Amino acid sequence: MKLKLHFNSKTIHGGQTPDKAYGAVMPPIYQTSTYAQKSPGVHLGYEYSRTHNPTRHALEKSLASIESGTYGFAFGSGLAAIDAVLKLLNPGDEIISTHDLYGGSYRLFTKIFEGFGLFFHFVDLQNSEAILEKINSKTKMVWLETPTNPMMNVIDIQSVAKICKAHSIYLAVDNTFASPYLQQPLHLGADIVMHSATKYLAGHSDVILGALVTSSPLIAERLAFIQNASGAIPGPMDCFLTLRGIKTLHVRMQRHCENTTQIAHFLKAHKKIEKVYWPGFEEHPNHKVAASQMKDFGGMLSFVPKGAHFKEALQIVEQLQLFTLAESLGGVESLAGHPASMTHGSIPKEHREKNGVVDALIRLSVGIEDVRDLLDDLDQALGTLK
Ligand SMILES: *Cc1c(COP(=O)(O)O)cnc(C)c1O
Repeated sequence: MKLKLHFNSKTIHGGQTPDKAYGAVMPPIYQTSTYAQKSPGVHLGYEYSRTHNPTRHALEKSLASIESGTYGFAFGSGLAAIDAVLKLLNPGDEIISTHDLYGGSYRLFTKIFEGFGLFFHFVDLQNSEAILEKINSKTKMVWLETPTNPMMNVIDIQSVAKICKAHSIYLAVDNTFASPYLQQPLHLGADIVMHSATKYLAGHSDVILGALVTSSPLIAERLAFIQNASGAIPGPMDCFLTLRGIKTLHVRMQRHCENTTQIAHFLKAHKKIEKVYWPGFEEHPNHKVAASQMKDFGGMLSFVPKGAHFKEALQIVEQLQLFTLAESLGGVESLAGHPASMTHGSIPKEHREKNGVVDALIRLSVGIEDVRDLLDDLDQALGTLK
């Protein structure tokens, strides 16, 4: 296509062409492992579905388009995508990351890759200069996510990217929480963007899938090799579902943000609430950075009820009726989570609490239901607190 598309058209058309066989507007689910060859090596571009599959290919082009990159890669899960990025490195290499990382990423880093000789530093990246203290000749990558999970800290991607460029270090950004609708790390200087497409990209809580996007031919060549050699690819049905989800990303994100804004202000004014973590508040420590690098403030927030401990937090999440108590985020339906016992259960308690993930913290993934019903639900659940 010659037209230069805006984001809200890229979600629907980016990298897409009608199917060559019959002109199908949605790419068919090519549920096949292999492809007929006329003569050895003579084929229509596909040989074996671990290496390439037309449905996955369509998704990968869409991913590259919406993240304003050149090359997209789909994986069997977000963690499989992160796993592939870490395989760009070699034993002895060091990675600097943020101290309030997604629990699964922390587990993959420390319980798997440290065993293969990678070394991880966890610092508070809200201050980008913190990287400088850890950089040495072995440092090869900075890995960050923003906003962070579940504390909603915001990291200045552009400022971290400058430091990385100056030291020839790769910057990889987990963009799961923001989605490319809100923030595009490649534009801000990142080398690799990663997604748990399980969340906002697919958006309907019906698929597990991971994504990587880069504009570097060098990184892309290596990632394509790793994707095929390690083989952590998604099946065509999951690629189809993710592609379908992406087509409404911009519409969903807009509503996620509108609903979350209302809920954040409602909770902040509620007499049973101690603290609300949401980057849209002017007094949020990184509000200015969020306002400059994000289009809006996202669909996630966390809060601590007044005087609450483990038991009271559990009481609230159990009382909620419309918010489903569940792991995950980013779907059309609202979810509530208790990080200390769920998503962040694998992080040691002292480490967790130092970063604000206290026993009373509750995390919300605000869906796209009628916000009046969501507010009613929160109000009735909080009303059960003494
Ligand atoms: C869910 C999530 C992941 C892991 O993705 P999976 O698809 O569950 O493997 C990584 N990072 C963040 C921020 C997430 O929310």
